[in-house]
Amino acid sequence: MIQDIAPHKYDNTFRIQKPEKEDYVLCIQKNRVFLRDGKEKGILEIPGFGEILPYLSDAEERAVYLFSIDERPYFLMEIRDEEAGLLPETDSGKEYVYAWKTTQDIRAMEPMYQAFAAITATQLFRWRQSRRFCGRCGSRTKDSTTERALVCPECGQTEYPKISPAVIVAVTDGDRLLMSRYRVNHSTYRGYALIAGFVEIGETFEETVRREVMEEVGLKVKNIRYFKSQPWAFTDTEMIGFFAELDGADTIRLQEDELSEAGWYTRDEIPDDDRLISVGTEMKMYFKYGENWESVLRHRAGDR
Ligand SMILES: [Zn+2]
Repeated sequence: MIQDIAPHKYDNTFRIQKPEKEDYVLCIQKNRVFLRDGKEKGILEIPGFGEILPYLSDAEERAVYLFSIDERPYFLMEIRDEEAGLLPETDSGKEYVYAWKTTQDIRAMEPMYQAFAAITATQLFRWRQSRRFCGRCGSRTKDSTTERALVCPECGQTEYPKISPAVIVAVTDGDRLLMSRYRVNHSTYRGYALIAGFVEIGETFEETVRREVMEEVGLKVKNIRYFKSQPWAFTDTEMIGFFAELDGADTIRLQEDELSEAGWYTRDEIPDDDRLISVGTEMKMYFKYGENWESVLRHRAGDR
């Protein structure tokens, strides 16, 4: 999954720290990230702080420490709309170019731990942008000096990073797995998906599982078992994965405003997916191949 970056080590301990030239910097404006289109064409890289320093005179004061990977710090630069043009996309003196890329482009970045860093930075960026003013009294918020939070200096309101819990459910019936496809206007994801939905107020995760399965496909489930969780920064979500067994009739009643189709698929009918960035994909492969799905997939990829 995207957050499985071992042997690299992610450290999100809160710190107040100034950037050094060799630290990484993620310059973000709206939904775009300023990246280096690397020495190898098509491989996106995160630039060093020293590379953007000549173009933003107050970069040092504005850089916000985010986290470190392998003890190398990552900083955020929140780029105002009128500043976007200051960062040059090409520089004739260098062997590489820079480019503004979308979060969808980041998804395909290599190595994957840098994609994880960049996408996590976009989540923190969105949160900071949406909490610039206190929701209670309207004053401008400030960075907390003790924790990763924005604090209102007038009324004391504290805002933490936005992380919305959502469940994702693999509904099984013996050798069959329930999979669906989203409607074109509901999600950008075109592959087979599992049932998923946000936890609502007053619910346990298990209650969300039962409600979402009933709402989306009209089925009852039992034996709900936790599988794994995953930070999913693309949508400010923490995905909590569960397996559940069909309880009773298997007739699907589709929620047509969200899903275009849903059906039961045997293990053989589930397509292989070797780019395992999401917990949903991992759950499909776990169901298809069992505990050793990783080595089975690697083996199959080697055969091709
Ligand atoms: Zn306030």
